[in-house]
Amino acid sequence: MIAVLFSFTSIETYLDDLQHHRTSCEAAVNHFLLRIAEKTHLNAFLEVFEEEAIQRAKMLDHQRRDGAPMGKLHGVIVGLKDVISYRGHGLTASSNMLKGYEAVYNATVVERLLEEGAIIIGRQNCDEFAMGSSNEHSAYGAVLNDADNNRVPGGSSGGSAVSVQAGLCMVSLGSDTGGSVRQPADFCGVIGLKPSYGRISRYGLIAYASTFDQIGIFSTNIPDAARVLEVISGADDMDSTVSQSPVEAYSQLLKAGRREDKRYKLAYFKQALEHPGLDPEIKNAVSDLIDKLRAEGHTVTPIEFELLDYVVPTYYVLTTAEASTNLSRYDGVKFGHQTTQKVDDLTEFYKKNRSEGFGKEVKKRIMLGTFVLSAFYFDAYFAKAQQIRQLLSEKSKEIFNKYDALISPNAPCSAFKLGEKQGDATEMYLADIYTVFANLVGIPGISLPLFHTKDGMPFGIQLMSDQLKELSLLTLSDQLMQSEGKH
Ligand code: GLN
Repeated sequence: MIAVLFSFTSIETYLDDLQHHRTSCEAAVNHFLLRIAEKTHLNAFLEVFEEEAIQRAKMLDHQRRDGAPMGKLHGVIVGLKDVISYRGHGLTASSNMLKGYEAVYNATVVERLLEEGAIIIGRQNCDEFAMGSSNEHSAYGAVLNDADNNRVPGGSSGGSAVSVQAGLCMVSLGSDTGGSVRQPADFCGVIGLKPSYGRISRYGLIAYASTFDQIGIFSTNIPDAARVLEVISGADDMDSTVSQSPVEAYSQLLKAGRREDKRYKLAYFKQALEHPGLDPEIKNAVSDLIDKLRAEGHTVTPIEFELLDYVVPTYYVLTTAEASTNLSRYDGVKFGHQTTQKVDDLTEFYKKNRSEGFGKEVKKRIMLGTFVLSAFYFDAYFAKAQQIRQLLSEKSKEIFNKYDALISPNAPCSAFKLGEKQGDATEMYLADIYTVFANLVGIPGISLPLFHTKDGMPFGIQLMSDQLKELSLLTLSDQLMQSEGKH
């Protein structure tokens, strides 16, 4: 492999450089492969599609030089969280259960990326079956934060966040069921966008909790996230939960939004900023930002949110219930690991396959989910949680009738030390307090990397908007990033 001078700032600049022969897709691939090789200690990639990426880059370079039109993501180097199907490539959800499994079809997002000329460079480590907030629950080892290797990158899409943070690819796709794109983005200092439920097809995404799961995007800047969103969003015959509402030309309209420089009506949950678990450094940064936004002419209104303490329990009751049914297919017969031990009884066979294949956290959630769905407890837990979800949706409608966006922290703390929270499940689950609301009600949320702690760790803010108002969310985000001096 040859070392080449290549630097990445944004997809638009890269495409312009390609068009004017200042660089090539091959040079870009070589650059990222070299970076990946230098940063293997981060454990961000489970597999790198090296040869294939080089071949595809060469093909794209030929086509472009022959005058073929360039796709919206021509030569853009993308990493995929190990829960997204890419035909003929390994797919394990970072679990021993699926060790050696190869995807037999392409996820819709993969089809759309490839149609627009993207180069998929590898699959990225994550918490097993996307369950976790620290990436410590991967069967293939923890992922390290590139800003401090003793700290976690967040989870569950830790490998995808670190890959963008450490410059191992241009953008990554992750999945967000309760914060798994926004929280690792926050811990790693990159942009993390979780679109509305139903904006992007889930066909080919390994299911954790189907009424919450959504594919999301990691990038270094807002226009890149907008461009990728535009490509992968929209109706799909393979997923009936995708919205039929047309996909806006996010990247073009974003530019129009820049000229407009709109004043927004923002709100924040009083209880969220006053929560005792919130790190004072984060609280101060968010409060200062609110003051600044007001000074710039936006309105920022504190609103009551009495249900804040219910969001995490509601999320965990509903998602574990969904997970317990979604993961039942991994029994060693339909899918997944088969024991090599001799067993005579079929039930014993299933048990062995599942106990050997799944890790501790996944087993815990399957058991919890089975419990809350069981006849005696269904009304006390599952039905109650659904009622709360309904109340939250009503609250959300009420908020977005009056306001353009909600502002909040992404997480109560910044990236913590590896192992620090492993013994304390409640504390780990509380890390999701600010992110699960968006998944419970299906609205989009984005994490913007605006600040650093005094220890030099990144953190930012989360913005949420009404369902399918991604354009407004991106425009506001772009404006905020610019006014904070970020590109
Ligand atoms: N941290 C959350 C959990 O463990 C979120 C996971 C996710 O979004 N996939 O469930």
